[in-house]
Amino acid sequence: MSTNIQAIRGMNDILPPETYLWHHVETIMRRILQSHGYQEIRFPILEYTELFKRSIGEITDIVEKEMYTFLDRNQETLTLRPEGTASCVRAGIEHGLLYNQIQRLWYMGPFFRHERPQKGRYRQFHQCSAEVFGLVGPDIDAELILMSALILEKLGIKQLTTLQINSLGTALSRTLYRKELIKYFNSNKNNLDEDSAHRLHKNPMRILDSKNPEMKKIIENAPKLLDYIDQDSRNHFEKLQEYLTHAGMAFEINPCLVRGLDYYTKTVFEWTSDKLGAQATVCGGGRYDHLVEQLGGKPTPALGCSFGLERTVSLVQQTEHNHKAETILHAYLITDSEESFIVGLKLANYLRSKVPGLKLILHCGGGHLKNQFKKADKSEALYAIIIGEHERKTHSVSIKSLREPIPQQTLYQDELAEYLKLKIAKKG
Ligand code: ATP
Ligand code: MG
Repeated sequence: MSTNIQAIRGMNDILPPETYLWHHVETIMRRILQSHGYQEIRFPILEYTELFKRSIGEITDIVEKEMYTFLDRNQETLTLRPEGTASCVRAGIEHGLLYNQIQRLWYMGPFFRHERPQKGRYRQFHQCSAEVFGLVGPDIDAELILMSALILEKLGIKQLTTLQINSLGTALSRTLYRKELIKYFNSNKNNLDEDSAHRLHKNPMRILDSKNPEMKKIIENAPKLLDYIDQDSRNHFEKLQEYLTHAGMAFEINPCLVRGLDYYTKTVFEWTSDKLGAQATVCGGGRYDHLVEQLGGKPTPALGCSFGLERTVSLVQQTEHNHKAETILHAYLITDSEESFIVGLKLANYLRSKVPGLKLILHCGGGHLKNQFKKADKSEALYAIIIGEHERKTHSVSIKSLREPIPQQTLYQDELAEYLKLKIAKKG
């Protein structure tokens, strides 16, 4: 006997009825993004490895440990995308979308990181992201944050989350801070874990993003970047806070928030929740004013944010949200013979095209009417539609409620669409 082949560790199958919950989350996100003027962009799942190395930074968790990188048959080094911003910028430059233009783009899909799988952390996961190009001021930072808040609100999970913001200044203003940080961590050298010791001189700011709980204390006492950033970044950050306050948006300033990728400048933010266990961040984002240039484009200010969909779905699951309405099957059509099936096949398609939202299963696989009735009942459909010899000859159907004790009815086939429309409308 051959053994079963199983899914790759950390890569999940998403099964019905949970897929309905995913639809719900995706639909709300899409709707809100579009209502803010964002347009969808799609790019490949594979890119040249160099793209991610150059953008995310060589000394980061993602590039050092998490990328799915391999040689393809042409001996080219390719990587399964670990995040979307780099690809989005690459595509924007390649197709001339960015230079001297304002773009609001969004995308949704799977991403891949070879992390240690645990609750909320997988090797294939999904993100829904927004990116904006060509706007330099804190006005758009504020609008992006408010948009992410509206997504959480419309999903009914905003009360489970808090907003944290910080400013990383510019790369230039970080030079002095970097020196201070190295000095501080050097004096605590014996308390650094292996990763942090390795990063001390190469990329000390990454130490601040360590997920190791034992590093928490020494990170908390480290010098704060906010005390070192340049005046322009400072003004930007203050204006952002002013906008958020005017909009009634509560936030916390978290001076330790640096995010896991090297390309961020000025504003960074995260929505976190204490309902997600150790993986607390449901959405993260920030400004990356130098990335376009770094990837070969003309200097273009930019910013973006990403929702982790697994974590978002997990929060929605903890609310009262009921996606039962979407799973309801309205009708199950059964037939007593080959001739009746031919009529049913045509009628089923006609009904689906005429009745918006109708969910109807046509019984396939034959069998006695009695057995087909059992299948109809098991399907949890609201109605069974029956075409037997009599119905076929009189162009009618019998319709029987499977959930309410009301007598079976006979209707002409051309009355059925209107009848179902009314019934569906009633069910909401
Ligand atoms: P974390 O701090 O949790 O490692 P990150 O900073 O690496 O997250 P980003 O690259 O900013 O994450 O990705 C944005 C969002 O995508 C995260 O806030 C999270 O919700 C989600 N995400 C990131 N990595 C994973 C993963 N391995 N599994 C599930 N969701 C993830
Ligand atoms: Mg990470």
